[in-house]
Amino acid sequence: MENQFDLIVTGGGMSGVCCAIAAARQGLRVLLVEKGGCLGGTACASGVMHLLGGRRYDAASDRMTREVGGLFDEITDEMIALGKAVDPDAIDVHHYNPYGWYPRMAAGIACDVDYLKYHLERKCLESGVRLLYCAQVTGVETADRRIKALTAHGPGSALHLSAPLYADCTGDAAIAAMSGCSVALGREGDHAVCPSTLIFYVDHVDTGAYVAYQNAHQSPKLVEIIQDLREKGIWRYPFEIFIAIETAEPGVFMVNTPRQTHVDGTDPFSLTQGLIEGRRIAYDLLDIMNRYFPGFENARMRRVFDRMGIRESRRILARHMISLPDALAGRHYESCVASTTYNFDLPDPDRPSYDPMMGDAKNPNANRQHACIEIPYASLLPREMDNLIVAGRCLGAEREVMGACRVMGPCAGMGQAAGNAAALAVQGDFAAVENQALRALLRAQGCIGCR
Ligand SMILES: Cc1cc2nc3c(=O)[nH]c(=O)nc-3n(C[C@H](O)[C@H](O)[C@H](O)COP(=O)(O)OP(=O)(O)OC[C@H]3O[C@@H](n4cnc5c(N)ncnc54)[C@H](O)[C@@H]3O)c2cc1C
Repeated sequence: MENQFDLIVTGGGMSGVCCAIAAARQGLRVLLVEKGGCLGGTACASGVMHLLGGRRYDAASDRMTREVGGLFDEITDEMIALGKAVDPDAIDVHHYNPYGWYPRMAAGIACDVDYLKYHLERKCLESGVRLLYCAQVTGVETADRRIKALTAHGPGSALHLSAPLYADCTGDAAIAAMSGCSVALGREGDHAVCPSTLIFYVDHVDTGAYVAYQNAHQSPKLVEIIQDLREKGIWRYPFEIFIAIETAEPGVFMVNTPRQTHVDGTDPFSLTQGLIEGRRIAYDLLDIMNRYFPGFENARMRRVFDRMGIRESRRILARHMISLPDALAGRHYESCVASTTYNFDLPDPDRPSYDPMMGDAKNPNANRQHACIEIPYASLLPREMDNLIVAGRCLGAEREVMGACRVMGPCAGMGQAAGNAAALAVQGDFAAVENQALRALLRAQGCIGCR
């Protein structure tokens, strides 16, 4: 394989794709290494088809606003124009609707994930990104605060990959951890993580009947039905809210209801247990949906995904960690390269339907929404390696803050920032990037998140 690259991006999720495209458009020779067989990461491999955080419903103007811009808008606008995604502007947000109950949820963009795989792939290739699928980075060679090379394993082969610059877009901070950078896994103390979900899709849903029930009973999550089923001994799960969102195909819903506790996304044994349990729950839950949930009487299993949906694993301990007090105070950074206006969203590791940042009167932070959390450049930089940048879910932020940054809009924004930073890291040192030059590049590319 031709082995002359300026940047190696590991991880082809939303952050990695945007990082690779942004860098390639700046003229860098980019290799994107992905252990799976497609791009899109959690969106495509785990089936999370509802892209949040890129748009926001603004109650004052009663309009959807754009919050990330840049490549996120480019990708989603193209998907909408192709008829492969639902335009949030066309959704009636004044009533419960099949794309998420509240206006802020309806700002998500429901995509056809199989088409999204294809679309992201086309865009990477057109930008000149070299793709390497089916190769998992398993080792990192380091010296003098620099990554020298990566080892990747494919089926029956080992590859030695090197470049002056590296981006870790693995969601798990895998490259940072393998390089010996400081990382944190889950909750301080016991390292417990937010619940995970094995997503499944069902078809033959009577959308009208489901939404009519939600509106007639003012019950977006069918809590009273679930309570009744629990009292009758039928509902035996620890989670107790129903989350189902219509995909880009009418009558086909993504079911994001099961929340499995204590699945460690960095441990294959734990993931295996999670997948086995997730598949059992999917079929068991569909049976309950058929019997008791309005609109789902004739629903059939369309597809159970085979990649566990991991909300939280490792984060880097970055040169700047975004703290919860700063996030709540709306701290402004001159070095802001991306941001999120999505709400805090990180269900409790032990109580899967409870979100500590949302619903407890005893919690001083409960229900405190933020206008905007700015993501400074230094929160993408690991402390120990000079030629490594991180983007996406594993950024350097306290875990509650990560809960607001982890959705796909901000991940795309961070990726675009990281790819442009690579183009400016001429001496191979990400910390030396001139920040105003980076922000000027991002603004010129239509990025709104770099406020
Ligand atoms: C159940 C669930 C529901 C969610 N709901 C929503 C939602 O409705 N809307 C929303 O916007 N967000 C949602 N999220 C969050 C969001 O999907 C993810 O946080 C986001 O997609 C993360 O993007 P990323 O690019 O950081 O990582 P990922 O999308 O996880 O991509 C990382 C990629 O790196 C690859 N990789 C990892 N390690 C290696 C390695 N060593 N070598 C090679 N490749 C590697 C992986 O295969 C993967 O493709 C949800 C998440 C979950 C789990």
